[in-house]
Amino acid sequence: MIKIVQCWDDGVEDDIHLCEILRAKGARATFNLNSGLHGAQRGNSWRYRDCKDVYRLAKGELVANYDGFTIANHSVSHPRPTQIPIAQWKSEVEDGRKQLQDIFGQEILGFAYPFGDTNPEVMDAVREAGHVYARGVANATPCFPPADPMHFLADCHFASPDFWDRYKRAKSAGSPVFYFWGHSYEMVTEEDWNAFSGKLDRINADPDAVWANLPDLFCGSQA
Ligand SMILES: [Zn+2]
Repeated sequence: MIKIVQCWDDGVEDDIHLCEILRAKGARATFNLNSGLHGAQRGNSWRYRDCKDVYRLAKGELVANYDGFTIANHSVSHPRPTQIPIAQWKSEVEDGRKQLQDIFGQEILGFAYPFGDTNPEVMDAVREAGHVYARGVANATPCFPPADPMHFLADCHFASPDFWDRYKRAKSAGSPVFYFWGHSYEMVTEEDWNAFSGKLDRINADPDAVWANLPDLFCGSQA
């Protein structure tokens, strides 16, 4: 049996459609959110690859949209962790965790480094704030267990051309976990969404695969 885990960053509008698909397919997922970037209206937008404007969800729609999924901390305001003073980084981490716990009423145990940017000092701050794992952006197969949970790398990005090669490699290596990540705004066309939906179908058709929640890998199952 292999546990399948996934996480998605930045709390954007396309997460609404993503969550609908994940619910329809019975897939578990974690969403890495920035507590300080959700205002009264959708905003904090940027242009993705010159093809669409990406908006963060409004604060008031977060709880309903992510109902049933796991929330993890992605810092308050998405700075580059190694580029700001460590005291400021500690506030980004600690305040982000507290604010997300207040919004969602669930214990926040996971973390994802903004831009995948980290160093030992940055990792210590994340660990000391009460997180049990933290994700970077490089790849590692097999991905579990990581040598240091504060430097937990996924097998691959969801749209990686070698997604299924890595899936097979993880299984043949006897890995207990296969882990992918991404941003929903990277799905631009109907074909992109269909391709992702097809991936979930293929995983669901694998009798060896079972969806799992990321923090449970480090804490045991918490219903
Ligand atoms: Zn991000």
